[in-house]
Amino acid sequence: MGASAVQAVTAWVVLGGHPSRPALLELSRLSPWAWAARTAGLLALWAGGSIATFALTFDPFLTALPFFMVGAVVWRAFRGRYRVYAFRGDCPRCGHALTVKPGTAIGLPHPLVCYQCHHEPRLAAA
Ligand SMILES: [Zn+2]
Repeated sequence: MGASAVQAVTAWVVLGGHPSRPALLELSRLSPWAWAARTAGLLALWAGGSIATFALTFDPFLTALPFFMVGAVVWRAFRGRYRVYAFRGDCPRCGHALTVKPGTAIGLPHPLVCYQCHHEPRLAAA
């Protein structure tokens, strides 16, 4: 919805001090309108939720909850300009296969975590 066609992108898994590894990446770019509408909607939810919680509870600690939780969602939506369809890449350090769940909205470069050697390579598009 609101996304353009899926395209294969030349991508690299980058980790400082190690040679970069090529990765297979298929994604679609969210249209600026879809992205702006989603971000604006979440932003309104975030502001409204925080204000409503404070108005109802007058409790700054309870207010902090939606403030940070929805804030994190807004931040991810703001960063998520691309939707991943397929990803295949290996850790530059240990060669362990890295995963990005299909359907995830990401920005680029995107941080990855290797569960084998616990380093944090980045996924970068060429
Ligand atoms: Zn690794």
